[in-house]
Amino acid sequence: MTDTNGEHAGRGASGVSGGAVWLRGELLDIASAPRPDRGPVVVREWTDSVRLRDPAPVGFRSLFLIGMGGDAHPSPSKFGEVLAAFAGAGWEVRRDASDQDGESRATARHEDFEVRVYEGSGSGLLTLTGWTPVVCPELRLGQPSFTLSTAPGALCGDCHGWGVCLDCEGRPYSRYERCWCAANNAGPGLCAECAGRGLRSSEAAPWMRPRQEPHDTDTEGAFPPVPVETGHDSTLRALTDVAQRACTCGEFRCSWRNSLSREGDRLLSRFGGTCQGCGVRRAYAFALPLP
Ligand SMILES: [Zn+2]
Ligand SMILES: [Zn+2]
Ligand SMILES: [Zn+2]
Repeated sequence: MTDTNGEHAGRGASGVSGGAVWLRGELLDIASAPRPDRGPVVVREWTDSVRLRDPAPVGFRSLFLIGMGGDAHPSPSKFGEVLAAFAGAGWEVRRDASDQDGESRATARHEDFEVRVYEGSGSGLLTLTGWTPVVCPELRLGQPSFTLSTAPGALCGDCHGWGVCLDCEGRPYSRYERCWCAANNAGPGLCAECAGRGLRSSEAAPWMRPRQEPHDTDTEGAFPPVPVETGHDSTLRALTDVAQRACTCGEFRCSWRNSLSREGDRLLSRFGGTCQGCGVRRAYAFALPLP
């Protein structure tokens, strides 16, 4: 593997990744283009650390969750405008063809930077989840397939998301003797446990099945019933609250979906997602004041 970090990925003298500073500013610029009633705001910023065989981290990536819109009344979609702003700033944009339940999704890429663009159903809540490349200050390594926040499921327990054999770090012929993984069914240099995917197999992680079996998408699309909370006047404020809450397993990382709908004499803003740590489905619901 070779170092593929882009020019923005170096660490500044302060120890803060230059790529993180650049990405944060870029996302706020792009999210400002459609001039929504609310936002953009940095809902949460955090880092994913990555490890090889030893528990001590060898590198990290910075992530940002930016929110905008999400008023307490149905708002026109800003999705197309935001995608146009990404394209105008030189990002490669790919819209997800499988929009459903009134939600919209897209991915934007620029060098090794990536952003998930999401718009919820009914509320006009639009979120950008952006991340920098993984920076390994001491080592020359390529990019792992996934880190904790970016995996569509649980990370492989053997390779921690790298997708490569960690005995040789993906270079099976670089030592005096070839690594055992050169004879691996998955292919030389790849992790045998996950066949190079970086994710646990669905047998080991049953919660991944709904993503792979179409007949389960209906249940994944539904927001499970949960006690209704009050105290927020907009979906964006509710998201800022939810993003600070942790799963019972202690993990806060979760890719949140949202739906706003009128039920009886109140507006209900529902959040749902799958915990990136243990895979359970998480959900919250907030009653918002009627406009
Ligand atoms: Zn693996
Ligand atoms: Zn190997
Ligand atoms: Zn959890």
